[in-house]
Amino acid sequence: MERFDVAVVGLGAMGSMAAWRLASRGARVIGFDRYDPPHTMGSSHGQSRIIRSAYYEGPGYVPLVRESFSLWRALEEESGESILTMTGALMIGPPDSELVSGSLLSAREWGLEHEVLQPADVDRRFPRYRLGDDEIAVYDIAAGFVRPEKAVAAALARARELGAEVHKRTAAEHVKAGAVRAEGRTWQAGHIIVCAGAWNATGLAPGLDMQLAVTRQCMVWFRPRTPALHTPEAAPVFVHGTTGDAIHAYGFPSVDGETVKIGVSSESAPQHPDRIDRTVNKADLDGAARYVKMALPDLDPTPVRSVVCLQENSPDRHFVVGPLEPGITVLAGFSGHGFKFAPVIGDIAADLALEGHTARPIEQFEPHRFAKAPQA
Ligand SMILES: Cc1cc2nc3c(=O)[nH]c(=O)nc-3n(C[C@H](O)[C@H](O)[C@H](O)COP(=O)(O)OP(=O)(O)OC[C@H]3O[C@@H](n4cnc5c(N)ncnc54)[C@H](O)[C@@H]3O)c2cc1C
Repeated sequence: MERFDVAVVGLGAMGSMAAWRLASRGARVIGFDRYDPPHTMGSSHGQSRIIRSAYYEGPGYVPLVRESFSLWRALEEESGESILTMTGALMIGPPDSELVSGSLLSAREWGLEHEVLQPADVDRRFPRYRLGDDEIAVYDIAAGFVRPEKAVAAALARARELGAEVHKRTAAEHVKAGAVRAEGRTWQAGHIIVCAGAWNATGLAPGLDMQLAVTRQCMVWFRPRTPALHTPEAAPVFVHGTTGDAIHAYGFPSVDGETVKIGVSSESAPQHPDRIDRTVNKADLDGAARYVKMALPDLDPTPVRSVVCLQENSPDRHFVVGPLEPGITVLAGFSGHGFKFAPVIGDIAADLALEGHTARPIEQFEPHRFAKAPQA
């Protein structure tokens, strides 16, 4: 029976990058996806994803995002696709919010280029935004957005050119060390990487449930009245946490020259990925329109497009990356902020699969940390 060095289960953001990085190192790779990536059924669609450096979620992420920037540029060079656009980022909220204080902590700890802007500064320099009187913005310079569909397609195409075997529309049913079972057949591989996104916790591999929870999120597009205020040159990407975290929203400049995408994070109840309602409803649209009226008044608050996206959350909202058991690496729990890191996570997966260890700082993502945590 044919034997591969590494099998990659799930070829979305993380799996496509893992396949590319593994194939770049000369490994014999086989990959499986239940759909035909890039697609709109998982977590990696919708035209744009923010990449930012002054990471409010923790300074430990900063070295990884730095490496990601170089790997995004490498993927652009190898594929000839334009994937990364630099715009800067505004991290907006009250001074003592996690968003603002966490961004400043990372910026100061790593000496990252940034400015602290008062509402009047933002009004003058980036006039599409309206800040509340009690809010400030951390302007993170090394930031922008990546194009998720192009990124996944480019990484998969490169992986194939470098010899990877890709099985689309082939759902893995079960994974154990040395073998993947899919569509009634078993494939042998020296190492297995499980990165099935929202489907990680559906019985794919023993020990992979670890309280990963899938929630439903919506992205909504609006039309600007003054397009010049929303170009990538004029409008940094942003993340906005209002007082008491009543709203956590984010958005982009216009990527298509006609519309602007925003998202208002929702804390919906966790659901099985196959049972999530994929229709955008009136409440979703009303929430986004309310936010636009408050914070981006140049946008016409009538939505022109919308889509549902699945988010896979870990209990502490930090990633789950590392050995699940000997011979199996898991890349999971990206909790709504993983895309920017996808190429470096893919390269870390290649380290773990081919070398058995990595020099990158992934201790914070240890997969078994939840099992070890004392019960509340
Ligand atoms: C609305 C929204 C906005 C976001 N915004 C940002 C942002 O601005 N910046 C940022 O950095 N991150 C952002 N994220 C997070 C980021 O998009 C995700 O962390 C990332 O896309 C997760 O990638 P993944 O590879 O884990 O999942 P996916 O890309 O969904 O890939 C999983 C793949 O596994 C396949 N699969 C599932 N089951 C099987 C099986 N049994 N066999 C084979 N294949 C299988 C699926 O078909 C899918 O292709 C956002 C997420 C959401 C939902």
